[in-house]
Amino acid sequence: MRTTSATKKATKKWVYAFGAGGTDGGSELRNLLGGKGANVAEMARLGIPVPPGFTLTTEVCTYFMRHDGGYPDGLRDAVSASLSHLEETTGKRFGDAKNPLLVSVRSGARVSMPGMMDTVLNLGLNDVTVKGLAARTDNPRFAFDSYRRFIQMYGDVVMGVHTSRFEHVLAQARRTAKVDADQFLPASALEALVVEYRALVKEATGEEFPQDPQAQLWGAIAAVFHSWNSPRAISYREMNEYPDDWGTAVNVQTMVFGNMGDDCATGVAFTRDPSSGEKRFCGDYLVNAQGEDVVAGIRTPISVNNAPESLEKRMPELYRELVGIAGRLEQHYRDVQDIEFTIESGRLWMLQTRNAKRTGRAAVRCAVEMVKEGLIDTRTAVQRVNPDQIDQLLHPTIDAEQAPAPIAIGLPASPGAASGKIVFHVERAVELAKDGVAVVLVRAETSPEDIDGMRVARAILTSTGGMASHAALVARGMGKCCVVGCGDVEVDYAKREMRVHGTSYPEGTEITVEGSTGNIYPGVIPTVQAELDDDFEKFMHWVDAARRLRVRANADTPEDARTARKFGAEGIGLCRTEHMFFREDRIDWVRRMILADTREARLAALEKILPMQREDFVGVFRAMAGFPVNIRLLDPPLHEFVPNEPAEIDALAKRIQVDKNALAAKVRLLHEFNPMLGHRGCRLGITFPEIYEVQVRAIMEAAVLVSKEGHTVTPEIMVPLVGLKAELALLREMIVRVAEGVLTESKHRVAYTVGTMIEVPRAALTAAEIAEVSDFFSFGTNDLTQMAFGFSRDDAPKFLRAYLDTHILQHDPFETIDQAGVGQLVRMATEEGRRVRHGLKVGVCGEHGGDPESVHFFHDVGLDYVSCSPFRVPIARVAAAQAAS
Ligand code: PEP
Ligand code: MG
Repeated sequence: MRTTSATKKATKKWVYAFGAGGTDGGSELRNLLGGKGANVAEMARLGIPVPPGFTLTTEVCTYFMRHDGGYPDGLRDAVSASLSHLEETTGKRFGDAKNPLLVSVRSGARVSMPGMMDTVLNLGLNDVTVKGLAARTDNPRFAFDSYRRFIQMYGDVVMGVHTSRFEHVLAQARRTAKVDADQFLPASALEALVVEYRALVKEATGEEFPQDPQAQLWGAIAAVFHSWNSPRAISYREMNEYPDDWGTAVNVQTMVFGNMGDDCATGVAFTRDPSSGEKRFCGDYLVNAQGEDVVAGIRTPISVNNAPESLEKRMPELYRELVGIAGRLEQHYRDVQDIEFTIESGRLWMLQTRNAKRTGRAAVRCAVEMVKEGLIDTRTAVQRVNPDQIDQLLHPTIDAEQAPAPIAIGLPASPGAASGKIVFHVERAVELAKDGVAVVLVRAETSPEDIDGMRVARAILTSTGGMASHAALVARGMGKCCVVGCGDVEVDYAKREMRVHGTSYPEGTEITVEGSTGNIYPGVIPTVQAELDDDFEKFMHWVDAARRLRVRANADTPEDARTARKFGAEGIGLCRTEHMFFREDRIDWVRRMILADTREARLAALEKILPMQREDFVGVFRAMAGFPVNIRLLDPPLHEFVPNEPAEIDALAKRIQVDKNALAAKVRLLHEFNPMLGHRGCRLGITFPEIYEVQVRAIMEAAVLVSKEGHTVTPEIMVPLVGLKAELALLREMIVRVAEGVLTESKHRVAYTVGTMIEVPRAALTAAEIAEVSDFFSFGTNDLTQMAFGFSRDDAPKFLRAYLDTHILQHDPFETIDQAGVGQLVRMATEEGRRVRHGLKVGVCGEHGGDPESVHFFHDVGLDYVSCSPFRVPIARVAAAQAAS
């Protein structure tokens, strides 16, 4: 039955054997046998000692799910034949009173889902076989300990008696025997415990604990299949986006015992250090223990090679054998292995091997060293690091061991971790920061006015807003740790406190914000600093060689531009000029410009702004010499620049010497019901052309200046929020007129281009027309998502959670591009634009430019570049390289 070749009519093979009696499969059957089953079979094929057994395939699980717990025809016969074969191989018999075969029944999906599904050990024990086992091993203590463990596990997993109820009885047994740990319970106490456990099962379920090993086996198999749909397994799949129909395999394997005496042990080990990546064999083990003891935390495991009682010292030969096998496995899989082993009476058995999970640092180091060792090529190395793990290398992280439970959880808007005293007002943040106090700025939401407070804060926390909210965008741009949309936090500006689940945290309270997870912790938690080493450099060099997609940064200041270059940005994909307007020394001139009654008054204010903008651009062009710099003309609605509070309006009136009532009236006039769809973007350029004229002049004068210094300058002037060809045509004419004027005046030529953002659905739909007057396209996927869905960027978090929970949406569309809808607009507009203008340069500058999954999509669509915040540039580079391989 173990092979189909003997069967005339090809029937489906449901059960695969492995181990000494013959092995049917191997690594190539991972989807069918699950990771554990496939790897155990592969080890057997390599001649590595594994306890023999057999695997029920993942297809049995999917059948079981579809048929309400029914099994396919032929399965029971196949299991029975496999079991007989196992009996032959081991010389033991299932249910035998003298020499019983005991098995473990374990889950194993195609990807590892640690601890998510169920396992039963020591199956086959009953009131009779336990005595046989005791006699054969001459170790009644071991036999009864195994039996009580089996009842506890089976009782919990198969019969639904919560393990805590068994633990309660066990604790009582320890008290009676006056011992403080299970391993000191004598055989008689364990024998008595078995009786009590069985009574507990009877009382809790009304049923006897099954004595028939066959019934035990089928009970355990069904329980493992059912555990594929346990709530924790389902939520783990959701989190990792694993399909529900993969199913789990079930591995039935001969038990080997690490708990038969002092010549027995069990442990876990890694071929390289999964935390640092260092090439050193490491791991933990316990003498006289069963696998679960190593991970359960009841006994403290001991290092295999770095402790007075290490395995290396206690059992040197077996240790050498283990290191040898581990080395072979790493060579075979060409990746770091995470292995489980058991030593039974001086004999080593391998129970499992799998590719080890590792930190970002370890991932990079292992990839680089394995290339050096000739184990893998650079293409494989590039695939070995999860792009998101790169984040860990660029930002400080929390020392997880020292973190208490979080007090609140929000959206992880910008990674890193930082602690400080909470403050709720920008002025206070600036004041305290001047005195060297570390502050965390806590706001219901942030607006451009808060920029100075955001700049000085160590971290930013908001109670509302989503991943594309102002706070999130700006914090990411600054590389500052930020959590947004933290609904548990209620900000009370008047009382200068925040409340979380009824507890008040007044100004000055210390908290720690973890932007990579969204966790908010009380107090100061130590962080581990990030450092970039030679391995990282080398790895990124391979990454850059592998990718086609260029990666630029969204950067608004010379400082951001320098950071972006440091992280490998190949230009600026979006310079939001409005951010330059908020600087303390110029905001009042911007306000004068906005509030001016006449064109003359507006021009007068703009004349003051011009040299300041020019200076900013000079700095940015210098920092980006040799690379393109895409500068977007003013985009936000003008009311964002003026104060709203009466006291602030009065103060402004005083400063700019106008009547406060007249000023208040003007501010009211700027009010819009829906500013995101209001007087913003190119609409500003059309109604107030002088604003754009001055900006273009500043850009071109700066370009000329830096070009004359000998640098290569490539300005790309970008118009936001275009929906009609005529809008862009009109503004293009103006931009070219001003730019040419500057170039003629300065008698110096600088090549420049004029293009548009595609962020209004109408622009995407009419891309062919728009391309006639646009030198390039840059997709503003934040607005495009907002307008394609009709979801407000700022308000969506209020309902998006429900959309995700009910699976209406699989991802937050502001984080990962919605390929079917918004992505379709991107694809179509790119194709249409290039049809009309051959070789049209196309990029993306919305937040999606730094999201690995979205980067894959943009690569497939054929964009020229993605642009993201400077700190995400390395992540996008890795994602682009992986997309290209
Ligand atoms: C966008 O809309 O995607 C974009 C990049 O512009 P902003 O976020 O400034 O609106
Ligand atoms: Mg936009």
